[in-house]
Amino acid sequence: MQVTQDTLALIGNTPLVRLKGPSEASGCDIYGKCEFANPGASVKDRAALFIVRDAEEKGLIGPGGTIVEGTAGNTGIGLALVANAKGYKTVIVMPETQSREKMDTLRALGAELVLVPAAPYSNPGHFVHTSRRLAEERENAIWANQFDNVANRRAHIVGTAAEIWEQMEGRVDGFTCAVGTGGTLAGVGLGLKERDENVRIALSDPHGAALYDYYAHGELKSEGSSVAEGIGQGRITANLEGAPVDTQFRISDAEGLEWVRRLLHEEGLCLGLSSGINVAGAVRLAKELGPGKRIATILCDTGFRYLSTLYNPEWLKAKGLPVA
Ligand code: PMP
Repeated sequence: MQVTQDTLALIGNTPLVRLKGPSEASGCDIYGKCEFANPGASVKDRAALFIVRDAEEKGLIGPGGTIVEGTAGNTGIGLALVANAKGYKTVIVMPETQSREKMDTLRALGAELVLVPAAPYSNPGHFVHTSRRLAEERENAIWANQFDNVANRRAHIVGTAAEIWEQMEGRVDGFTCAVGTGGTLAGVGLGLKERDENVRIALSDPHGAALYDYYAHGELKSEGSSVAEGIGQGRITANLEGAPVDTQFRISDAEGLEWVRRLLHEEGLCLGLSSGINVAGAVRLAKELGPGKRIATILCDTGFRYLSTLYNPEWLKAKGLPVA
């Protein structure tokens, strides 16, 4: 029999797919790491597993314990899955602006869901601060703290980067992705540079985030806004510290959305907007590197999580985004 005994062993070891449209458009080979193939359908299952294992190894959580986290949703889904498999409870704090599907998924998984109004990080009501307070108040609870807990990026150094390197047989010219916590960009960046310091690492930043200006001019500054969920950072998190960023792009929602649609209609991949922004970034990186190069990026989560938003013409119209 070829059977996996442990459901948590299903996290990671995702396939890598050559993306035809982006490769043809850029003259390079662009590869997408299929993170939607994780059990929770996003890249964040990896961080969730590493954060929980780290807490167990440090003796911070034990039987009957509760994991509390503030999240745009995907980390909450990953944590709820890991918690269910290990017998822990989860309390998930999420801004009420995130997709219905994520909320329904979290409730279905048995997480206690706490919705808070969207607020700037400086506001004590921000979902991250709310989750820290809740973790302090509850008995036998830990705060996952994905933004500043570097067990998150370790998941990508040990897992994602090593897998990409092996899948591409050690011939990687560039890598790019957007940043939520920075775990993926920093972790994959560090992991690939460890193997070949010439791999070019690029940030693909949505509008409304402050990192493009930080890496371009050393100043945290944002302009515009984005409807992309799970990305768009305004500070240097602990996970981002020391991230080996060589170049940066600012990508609009319309540019990301165009790739989301092309990947769906031409290649049968149903993805979220952060994946579209990543692919747009990979095409830009390809133009910078020149023809024939090999570039990897992250297909962060499934589009089925956004049927009520990205794939809903009424919602797109209300957000002022092109419908087709
Ligand atoms: N895309 C989506 C859909 C996400 O939920 C996240 C995580 N917040 C990211 C991208 C960014 O990943 P990271 O936290 O590793 O920067």
